[in-house]
Amino acid sequence: MTPTLALTEDLLRRPSVSPEDHGCLDVIGGRLAALGFRIERLDFGPVSNLWARHGDATPVLCFAGHTDVVPAGPRDEWSTDPFEPVLVDGVLYGRGAADMKSGLAAIVTAMERFVGRCPGHRGSLAVLFTSDEEGPSVEGTKKVIETLESRGEKIDWCVVGEPTSRAVLGDTIKVGRRGSLSGRLTVHGVQGHIAYPHLADNPVHRFAPALAELVATHWDEGNQYFQPTSFQVSNIAAGTGAPNVIPGDLKVRTNLRFSTEQTVEKLQRRVLEILDRHGIDYTMEWHISGLPFLTPPGELTEAVERAVRETIGRVPEYSTTGGTSDGRFIAPTGAQVVELGVVNATIHKVNECVRVADVDTLSRAYERVMELLLAEDR
Ligand SMILES: [Zn+2]
Repeated sequence: MTPTLALTEDLLRRPSVSPEDHGCLDVIGGRLAALGFRIERLDFGPVSNLWARHGDATPVLCFAGHTDVVPAGPRDEWSTDPFEPVLVDGVLYGRGAADMKSGLAAIVTAMERFVGRCPGHRGSLAVLFTSDEEGPSVEGTKKVIETLESRGEKIDWCVVGEPTSRAVLGDTIKVGRRGSLSGRLTVHGVQGHIAYPHLADNPVHRFAPALAELVATHWDEGNQYFQPTSFQVSNIAAGTGAPNVIPGDLKVRTNLRFSTEQTVEKLQRRVLEILDRHGIDYTMEWHISGLPFLTPPGELTEAVERAVRETIGRVPEYSTTGGTSDGRFIAPTGAQVVELGVVNATIHKVNECVRVADVDTLSRAYERVMELLLAEDR
């Protein structure tokens, strides 16, 4: 068994359902301390965070990730115990196998090899791991970044070990993510008897044409790096349950995933303009889960692409698709952020798994990134 596989299995045995860390960061912190990293636990509330740094100089190359996992879901739908790693035909099963305990293990063993061989590397090597990426993401990476910013500590390059590959390892790296803007809309009507509609005001009927327009709206074209902005309704509810009552209000939850072509203000204005034009009486509460970010081609994208080419033998596609990631908290500090990790086909599903060979290859790719950016003889 390779060291990366052994560490992955150790982490998988810890049922670290968000925001629980279950000792993962103690294990990782211990390994990095043995290499000479300065270990800092920046825990906030129920959330465990690790900031560890090797070296004092700049530039700072940081690897980021999370120890928490989403719940396993119905146990009887799993073929194996989700918190007992099982290896079948070169595939390792368990909750967090792909998202992202194998990634964490690959980072740690890559650092062990790199620092072991190159203890006097230039700049600094760091990790930022949290147990709150799958949850509210309030006391995790966001708080650690605030702490670092408050003392003037900067990350120059950040590699996030999230599972970014689509079909095969290294086919995709993420160089940014879309923004996410959620809305809680309440359409106000007047409740009444369904046989006396002239004495009521039906919020479902009021909203329907506006919804049709919101869904049909072409928000933008996207750009070279981003797909077009999309509007979705996730929840809609109205009605008292009685078949003879016109409901008094309608509640809708909406979400916009948007590109760097948009701003929050522009999107809000356009949504409200549509609602107003349809003469709807409403209240809207907005929540911004993340702003879009993009790392244009540069030192970090070049190093990651070259590492993938040399260790995996593939030319990765640059993508910004998928959900948000903790990169959204790191990028605004001015850091270049690139995400590279294992295949994401089974993440958050039952029977989550990862190809064992990929875990070792990924670790070699991370090690190569460290060499390209921090080796003395650069
Ligand atoms: Zn993840």
